[in-house]
Amino acid sequence: MEAVLWMGWRYARAFVCAGFLLAVCGGDSAFAADHRTANFVIEAPTPESARRIGDAAEQYRHDLAIEWLGKPLPRWSSPCPIVAQIAPHLGAGGATSFVFDRGEVFGWNMTIQGSEERILDSVLPHEVTHTVFATHFRRPLPRWADEGACTTVEHPIERARQHRLLIEFLSTGRGIAFHKMFAMRDYPADILPLYSQGYSLARYLIERGGRRRYVGFVEQGLKNEDWSGSLRRHYDIEGLAPLQASWLEWVRQGCPAPPASVAGNAVRAIAVGGTVRGQSPDAEFIAGGPSKNRASIYAQQAAKARDMKPLVLQPNSAGPNR
Ligand SMILES: [Zn+2]
Repeated sequence: MEAVLWMGWRYARAFVCAGFLLAVCGGDSAFAADHRTANFVIEAPTPESARRIGDAAEQYRHDLAIEWLGKPLPRWSSPCPIVAQIAPHLGAGGATSFVFDRGEVFGWNMTIQGSEERILDSVLPHEVTHTVFATHFRRPLPRWADEGACTTVEHPIERARQHRLLIEFLSTGRGIAFHKMFAMRDYPADILPLYSQGYSLARYLIERGGRRRYVGFVEQGLKNEDWSGSLRRHYDIEGLAPLQASWLEWVRQGCPAPPASVAGNAVRAIAVGGTVRGQSPDAEFIAGGPSKNRASIYAQQAAKARDMKPLVLQPNSAGPNR
C-alpha cells in the first residue's frame, strides 16, 4: 500500500478546521510555550496550559487505549506534536493527521482549538482516540466508524448536541443510507450528518457490546469489507439493512438503554477500567464507561454545567459556525 496521509477532524465544519490550519501555518507568534511529555510535544499560549494539555493527552492516551483495546499503547518512536490555540470565544475543534505506510503509522500532527475547558474534556479525547485507532489499525477506517467512535468519548454536552443534530438531519432528509455510509473513506460534501449519524450508530453498537467488541467488529469488517459478516459475528445482526432498520427504530424510540441482559453482556465484555454509571440515553454509556480519570474530568465539568441550563450550550461554545 502506498503511503496515505490520513486526517481526522473532530469538528464537522470544514471551514473551521481550514481556517484554523491556515492560522497555524501562518506562523502565528502568539504561541509561546512548549512542553514535552513521553509521547507529545505541546505548543500552547502559556507553559501552564501546555503542561495541562500534555498531562491530559498522556492520561487519555493511556486510559482510552485500555478502554478500546484492553491494553495501553507502546510508546511512539517519535512524539506527536500538538499545537493548541486557546481562547474562550474559539469554536471547539481539532484535526489530527498521520501517515500510513507499509503497515506503519508516523508523521503525527495534531492541532486543537477552543476554550481550555472544552479542549480538555472533548477535543483532546476525540483527537487522541484517532491516534489510538491509527496505532492499532494502521490503516484508514470508514469515516463513520472513526469519527463516530471518537465522538463517543466527548463530554456528554457535546454528545447531546450531536444527538439533537441527528434528529434534525433525519427529519429533513439528510440522513445517509448505511450502504453508502459504510463505503465512505472520505468526508462527504454534506459532512455534518456523517458525524451525528456515525456517533449515534457507534453508540448503538457500543451499548450492545462495549468498546472492545466495536474494535473487533471494525477490524473484521476492514479485512475483506464484509461488514455484514462482521455484524453477524459480533452483534448477531444479519446485515446493513436490518442494522439500519433497528438503529432507526431505536432512534425513533428516543435511544432507550438496551435490555439488562444485553447491557450486562456489554459490561462483562470490558476487562479493565470501566465504571458503570448513568441510565439516561444522554448519560454515559452503560457499556464502556469512562475510566476514573475521565470520570473525574466529567464530574468537574458537570459541576460547572449545573450552574448553566442543562444541555443548552452557550452561544459561543460551538463557535462561529452554526
Ligand atoms: Zn475526528
